[in-house]
Amino acid sequence: MRKMRGILLAAALVLLVGLAACADDSGGEYEYDADSAADCAPGEEYDDEFGVCYGYDEAAGDQYVPEQDNGDQYASEEDTGDQYVGEEDAGGEYEYEADSAADCAPGEEYDDAYGVCWGYEDAAAADEGNADGYVDADYPDEGYYETAEDCYDDEVYDPVDQLCYLADDADADYGSLFDDVFGAFSGDGETYQDLDEFGDNAIITYDVRGNEIVNPQKMSVSSDLEVYQNDADTHRSIWTYFANLVPQDQRTFVSKYSIFTDGQDNVMAAVAQDESDPEKWVLAVDIVDAANQQELTYSLIHEFGHLLTLNNEQVNINEDLFYQQDNEDLYNDAAASCPAYFVAEGCTRSSSYINSFYERFWTEFAEELSERESIQDEGDYQDAAYAFYQRYSDQFVTEYAATNPGEDIAESWTAFILQPKPTGSSIADQKTLFFYDYPELVRLRGQITSRAFSRLRVRP
Ligand SMILES: [Zn+2]
Repeated sequence: MRKMRGILLAAALVLLVGLAACADDSGGEYEYDADSAADCAPGEEYDDEFGVCYGYDEAAGDQYVPEQDNGDQYASEEDTGDQYVGEEDAGGEYEYEADSAADCAPGEEYDDAYGVCWGYEDAAAADEGNADGYVDADYPDEGYYETAEDCYDDEVYDPVDQLCYLADDADADYGSLFDDVFGAFSGDGETYQDLDEFGDNAIITYDVRGNEIVNPQKMSVSSDLEVYQNDADTHRSIWTYFANLVPQDQRTFVSKYSIFTDGQDNVMAAVAQDESDPEKWVLAVDIVDAANQQELTYSLIHEFGHLLTLNNEQVNINEDLFYQQDNEDLYNDAAASCPAYFVAEGCTRSSSYINSFYERFWTEFAEELSERESIQDEGDYQDAAYAFYQRYSDQFVTEYAATNPGEDIAESWTAFILQPKPTGSSIADQKTLFFYDYPELVRLRGQITSRAFSRLRVRP
């Protein structure tokens, strides 16, 4: 396949299409530098964008493999045997509500006792497609992986992760790219926002099945939004980018994916509990803001920070609270009986990331925080948050982080992913260093950064 990974969203799509097509080739692809099509041998194609002749070697197995195929990998601590790899993601059972067997995809069964279609994930990856036509052979449910041939010159291939990692000596390059992504939000006073109630602006919602999005449900929208509602390619490319950044086994609690817009800027992305199962989550992205790949990257990492710290392994999700959000007595009782940090979703587990973060960095502000949270007017609330940030700016990685502990940990997580390891001792630095205390998160950082880097960078 052509190595077309670039800075555009569409590039990720091209890569996946290429992978699907490549599966049918019996031989490997090769390429070599050339000045023009005249230099290529018969049967080879010339790619003038990259200045190479390329072709397929029909002798299976005899393909070009870069020499940096082993050895000195970036983030070598991650090189244990239990990583997620593409082949392992088969087999999960799934189901979705349906009116009759006619609504089920080929290979799925209809259960009329529960009114659901159900099947197994590996079957869902079959080429027949789902009833709605949104699953097809171009998007096999294989997870994201790379081959050694996909690596850039300064990357090395990790055959266990099936990913290209930057070589150690390329770390400076990596740092400056991610500084741009991080700086886009923290450097010029632009504030990042998200909120739970994106619902008013929702355009379309999909169910998530592993790496797939299926069953699009269109909201009633004004005619000027129909162009966004019908742009299934963009919906899918945004999802694919997220699914490629975050390994599938780290986002099993994402059950829905929504597209919304409130116009340029304002809310860029959001997460919310799934109304049909409060232990599951909806990822929502503003399709207008997503056109900026750096902002999209930042937003997706920030939102994943919420999911990482609020999922049901971290927080004892209180379903009664979710379904009775205006019941103040219920809320107060639940908060009073929680021995750890209490969040809107429920009582955090004592060893959870967010409770540990709160106990270390926020207990001294508990009273001030609870006073601020009693402010009803949104403008007054923002003013109070800004005044708080100005008083303690050395404690926060961004202005938005000062909003509350939940945003602080999501922003500090984003800094952990996108910034070099801090060498200073400010409290803001300590908040980033907090994540380095967890080996599983250091490993995840390596996976996310390698995946983001390959898509954000311009081909050398
Ligand atoms: Zn947030």
